[in-house]
Amino acid sequence: MKRIWIILILIVITIISIGCDKVNNPEYNVDKSACNSCGACIGICPIDAIEIGADGKAIIDQTKCNQCGKCIAICPEDAIY
Ligand code: SF4
Ligand code: SF4
Repeated sequence: MKRIWIILILIVITIISIGCDKVNNPEYNVDKSACNSCGACIGICPIDAIEIGADGKAIIDQTKCNQCGKCIAICPEDAIY
């Protein structure tokens, strides 16, 4: 019986830690309907995580983005969320 409680507690801790990681490391995305292709976010991104896609709209490379928030602050259309 004691083992079951320990396993349940470990499962709960794992679920909570995954949830906290998601909150602490939000994924930033571009609302393509709002993006005007100005390129300001590309210029400000310190690690070149943004590029203009084939549709002319900004795309954030989630494998590079460190969630610094600079692109959100500079976007004139509030297109990054
Ligand atoms: S700064 Fe905003 S409007 Fe300009 S390219 Fe980036 S996402 Fe689009
Ligand atoms: S949050 Fe920072 S690192 Fe990520 S795309 Fe925007 S400017 Fe680049």
